[in-house]
Amino acid sequence: MLTGMHVAVMGGDARQLEIIKMLNELDAKVTLIGFEQLDHAYTGAVKEKVSEANFSEMDAIILPVRGTDQEGQVDTIFSNEKIVLTEELLIQTPKHCTIYSGISNPYLDSIISSSNRKLVQLFSRDDVAIYNSIPTVEGTIMMAIQHTDFTIHGSNVLVLGLGRVGMSVARTFASLGAKVKVGARKTEHIARITEMGLTPFHLDDLESVVKDVDICINTIPVLVVKANVIAKMPAHTLIIDLASKPGGTDFRYAEKRGIKALLAPSLPGIVAPKTAGQILANVLSQLLEHDFKNGKE
Ligand code: NAP
Repeated sequence: MLTGMHVAVMGGDARQLEIIKMLNELDAKVTLIGFEQLDHAYTGAVKEKVSEANFSEMDAIILPVRGTDQEGQVDTIFSNEKIVLTEELLIQTPKHCTIYSGISNPYLDSIISSSNRKLVQLFSRDDVAIYNSIPTVEGTIMMAIQHTDFTIHGSNVLVLGLGRVGMSVARTFASLGAKVKVGARKTEHIARITEMGLTPFHLDDLESVVKDVDICINTIPVLVVKANVIAKMPAHTLIIDLASKPGGTDFRYAEKRGIKALLAPSLPGIVAPKTAGQILANVLSQLLEHDFKNGKE
């Protein structure tokens, strides 16, 4: 239980609603910043403007998945208020106050460091990334269906990268009957792809394996689907790039060649915000209870 713990939820989208529900169930005191247009009222949660909130009482601050932008602004779909997280606000919090975010950026890193607070990036945890790969794959299937006129079953699918997302994508497309080849650079990944019953190839050979690809799904967050690779693809190939912005595809060249290439960020929040929110809420409940218990000792 989080009875006596004061948590600020600062901005966010539908995923935050599951987190707020969890905080309420665990009896935390909750301040909602950037939620004034949210119709639902939660007992035990108070909606406040950023200028009204008393940061000296906050034991934890929960930011949206993106954290902040490069200027410190926090996204919120439930408010028109401009919410900026600053070093001045963080300094007002108690020293033990922990900030939770999906990911970070140089701005957030710098105010965390200068205010000497602790930042937990939920998406760098393996458990969150693996759970999150489930709605990511479902969103990828949705995009493949929406943007092709052929079935996934029987199609030639290339998956680039065998990380937490790549493995789930490769396995699921193979279960749907696609002929899946997976590109990786590590020998242990090549071995794992073979063990999964899929066809491995080394990323150095990418150019030579794309000649009959129907759908190319990239999960590698560096430029791998380069112009020389796209030049060898059939004209009907669909590229779905799941890697974080700016993706790993030469989108300019794909457009020039008339190949459909889609950057598809934040699929969990789009196709399954409730599940994506529950994934975060489950992990956060464990982390907050642990922090709170340790803080009291
Ligand atoms: P991950 O577990 O770290 O996997 C990344 C993969 O990329 C690994 O196979 C890694 O191989 C490979 N890789 C990295 N740098 C490389 C390089 N320079 N050359 C060749 N291969 C390289 O990450 P993840 O959790 O699967 O996430 C993958 C990407 O998807 C991230 O950018 C993440 O932000 C994004 N993502 C997007 C969505 C969405 O909705 N679109 C959802 C979740 C995650 P090595 O082990 O050899 O480095």
